[in-house]
Amino acid sequence: MSRRVLIAGFTGAMGQYTVDLVNSLDGFEITAGLSPKVEGDKASYHLADSVKIYHSLAELPDDVADVWIDFTTPEAVYENTKYAVDHGISPIIGTTGLTDDQESGLIKAATDKQLGGIIAPNFGMSAVLLMKFAAESAKYFPDVEVIEMHHADKADAPSGTALATAKKIDENRPEHESSPDKVTTLAHVRGGDYHGIHIHSVRLPGYVAHEQVLFGGPGEALTIRQDSFDRKSFMSGVKVALQKVGDLKTLVVGLENVL
Ligand code: NAP
Repeated sequence: MSRRVLIAGFTGAMGQYTVDLVNSLDGFEITAGLSPKVEGDKASYHLADSVKIYHSLAELPDDVADVWIDFTTPEAVYENTKYAVDHGISPIIGTTGLTDDQESGLIKAATDKQLGGIIAPNFGMSAVLLMKFAAESAKYFPDVEVIEMHHADKADAPSGTALATAKKIDENRPEHESSPDKVTTLAHVRGGDYHGIHIHSVRLPGYVAHEQVLFGGPGEALTIRQDSFDRKSFMSGVKVALQKVGDLKTLVVGLENVL
């Protein structure tokens, strides 16, 4: 029997790619969609007539789906994920913006229920590899800054991937004192600061999702860069998540941990 999938944010850019992906997969069936404002008929969103559309969490019936895929907004993602975990629906969360405390609370709740799920700040293979290489490089190059570049409509900053990269670098680099800002003549010019790792967020039309990690050492530098030119690139990771989530017994953070 097919696993029943609810797509939260199915009207959005990522949501629509996800609809097409799930429609193309054997063993999964979209049975529900959640988005506050739905204009147009189901066919215009590539949904079958049988799919049930909901506008809020309050409308959802019990046992609405087996898997919950979320590409919504930073404001909605915590309540959505909590709903899924509380109702025994395996969450696959692509929406960024969960805080560390929210993430730990969700992991605990999922573990208590032995419920599998995946939170992936980035489903793109190039970004997953960038994070892996950056974590490795941090052992040898403790001086590092991150620049992320996204399309102008991105709601949150820094990007979930940039923050996840900084966390992985921080876990892997030796005890280190970052060079202090002696004089700055413009507020925030050094970007955000995660445990001494500066993160710079660029928002410009034309960009999709890109990140550079710059390591500097005496007389040399290492730059690692990834570019997602098309949102389609995230779908191979969502497919892996769908295939793996049934085997998990807790909420795993990071696609690299299920590859
Ligand atoms: P988008 O085009 O603005 O779509 C957002 C969707 O969320 C819309 O369908 C919107 O519905 C819906 N929504 C808003 N509030 C909601 C709620 N309370 N409950 C359910 N749905 C709600 O955004 P996008 O470009 O698809 O990106 C969505 C998220 O994915 C962002 O957080 C982005 O950073 C993240 N993202 C992650 C990855 C990854 O690999 N993990 C890759 C790209 C993007 P209405 O139109 O009806 O309001």
